[in-house]
Amino acid sequence: MFLLVLLWIVFELIRDIYYSFSLSGLVMESHQASTWKLNTLFVSVFLLLVYLLLITSMAKNPAKLSDNNEIITVNKTELVNLTRFDKLMSTVLLMPKSYLYQGEIFITLEEKATEIRVLPFENLLISSFIDIAIPVTALLLMALTSVVVNALYYHKNMIKKITPLCHKVDGIISTYQLDSSVNENSANLHSLTNSLNYLQKISEEYQLKAEEYNFCDKLTKLVDRYHFLDHINKQLIISKKKGIKSALLFIDLDGFKSVNDSYGHSFGDEVLIQVAERLKSIVRRKKLNFKQDDSVLEYNLSRLGGDEFTMFIRELESPEQSIGVAIDVLKELERDFILGTKIIKISASIGIAIYPDSAATPYALIQMADVAMYRAKTDGRGVYRIYSPEMGASMRRYHYLLDEMRAAIDSKNFFLTFQPVIDIDDYGIIYFEALVRWQHPVEGTITPDEFIPIAESSNLILELGDWILDEACRQMSAWYNAGMRNARISVNLSAIQLKHKPLDDWIFESLEKAGLPPRSLMLEITESCFIDASDKLFTMLENLRAKGVLIAIDDFGTGFSSLSILANLPVDVLKIDKIFVSEAMNNSKYNKILHSIVDMAKKLDLNIVAEGIEQVEQLEMLRSLGVQHIQGFLVSRPQRSNYVGKKIFEQGVNHMAHTGTSQWAPQVNDLN
Ligand code: C2E
Ligand code: MG
Ligand code: MG
Repeated sequence: MFLLVLLWIVFELIRDIYYSFSLSGLVMESHQASTWKLNTLFVSVFLLLVYLLLITSMAKNPAKLSDNNEIITVNKTELVNLTRFDKLMSTVLLMPKSYLYQGEIFITLEEKATEIRVLPFENLLISSFIDIAIPVTALLLMALTSVVVNALYYHKNMIKKITPLCHKVDGIISTYQLDSSVNENSANLHSLTNSLNYLQKISEEYQLKAEEYNFCDKLTKLVDRYHFLDHINKQLIISKKKGIKSALLFIDLDGFKSVNDSYGHSFGDEVLIQVAERLKSIVRRKKLNFKQDDSVLEYNLSRLGGDEFTMFIRELESPEQSIGVAIDVLKELERDFILGTKIIKISASIGIAIYPDSAATPYALIQMADVAMYRAKTDGRGVYRIYSPEMGASMRRYHYLLDEMRAAIDSKNFFLTFQPVIDIDDYGIIYFEALVRWQHPVEGTITPDEFIPIAESSNLILELGDWILDEACRQMSAWYNAGMRNARISVNLSAIQLKHKPLDDWIFESLEKAGLPPRSLMLEITESCFIDASDKLFTMLENLRAKGVLIAIDDFGTGFSSLSILANLPVDVLKIDKIFVSEAMNNSKYNKILHSIVDMAKKLDLNIVAEGIEQVEQLEMLRSLGVQHIQGFLVSRPQRSNYVGKKIFEQGVNHMAHTGTSQWAPQVNDLN
């Protein structure tokens, strides 16, 4: 009996455990609690009933058993008192006084003076159990039936309740538009559990994707600027606590703009993706990784925007470690990039800032690394530089002048000076080189050596260059109309202009505006501009030459100086850089180079101009070499137009009408 009751309890227990597991503990917790209360009540009532039945039966049974020979009469002295446990048993079962006789329990039926009539307790118990077997079994059956009915009712009820839940979950799964094999389309706890598990899995995946989407740069999948800065901020706090150093590398691709310009932006995007992959591989190889919690993103690497990337080294062992990483990055990015059938080469300039030496906050650290990167650019690109305070000063000057220049262009705070190039024999003026100056309200006159590179790096040279060309043509047109028909104005062009301007159309337009014939113009282009010149540029230069515009290579000897390339360039004039003139007097090597340049230019039928003549001896040396045209302070410093105007009319209008130019004699006496 007890075994049966026990079985029932176990059954109920298993059933509850099953439900609680199958619903992942979500739905059934309240049900479980109420079932247990009910079960306890049920079992208690059942046990009470069995107990009552048993004691009633036991009370009746002695009379029944007296008919059998099971009642015996024994001497009182043979009886022993019960043990405590046996006593407890007989009390629970409401037995009359009981004794131990020959090791068994006997209950007293009748007591006489010396004898006592007793009945074996065991026999009474067995016969009582037999008596109550049928009602107990009936009770048990009723209980089991009620359990089964209850379970069926519960099951039906639950299906009714979870069906809409299942539909809801399936609906959510289908909104993810995923093909789910888990979606069994049946409303039972098992499928609901599976669906919920699946839902949990996909929501975790979506969470990761959302993080990736929100935290990273969409193109390269690297952490974006905002989250990178947030990450460094936390890391710098740790570095401060531990008293350790960290480093930040600012990586900027060299010439990436021309990749975009030449091959298109989608090609450029592909290059950026490959760059990001290469940088990631360095981070892994150098063990600089940092992942946050479950995130898939690498936090020590970021794309700041455009072609700028940053890498963070958390625990810097020594500055040499950051140099090692920078060298690795340079090497990695110098390897060919293969995109489809195209192979391109790029390089990078890297600035390194070290915490806390260079800066103490994330923003400042990036800024200082940027300053160092800029220095790497101006030092020739494809190199790294570590930040030093001196760099900061020149950077501040750079930004100051850049801001000022924007305003200066709007308010036309520039003017042109003109430096004559003369014939060495009759001092006749061949060209005037137009050289720009910036009239700054506070700084006074700023020379082009300082502001032209800034104008070039910011593309302001395009706007400024328009004004220079127009102004030079306008001035020359005035002199031309006054009789200077055989002299030219020479205008310097920078590489940025050659890249962005439709050169021939732009120049012809300016000439037309000024009413100046093309044969009164010369353009000076430094030899480095020809290194990666496109065929299109060559065609445009040929168009200009065909109309009479001369093209000069400026500062010859300081760029790539490839004599073989020179033969095929669309140029007419070769301007030998002043370094050869100044050094040739004392340095035999320079002297020899000067000789070869002059020889070669003559063989190629190029017109030679020697720049930077400051001394009579230099003039004589050039004369002995057969150089016909010279330019330099010995003749004149660059002068304002009104000064030049007076000077050219010194010889009189007749001279000009006759020769088509004027004379400008070297100031030999002044210099000696
Ligand atoms: P550049 O085209 O080679 O111009 C010649 C430079 O040498 C001028 O410097 C001139 O003043 C200087 N110079 C001339 N004779 C002598 C001499 O005997 N001794 C010495 N030491 N220097 C002499 P400037 O005017 O300061 O111009 C510097 C450079 O700035 C120019 O070199 C040119 O590359 C650039 N630049 C000047 N004006 C313009 C412009 O309008 N547009 C562009 N794109 N660049 C310009
Ligand atoms: Mg020049
Ligand atoms: Mg020059």
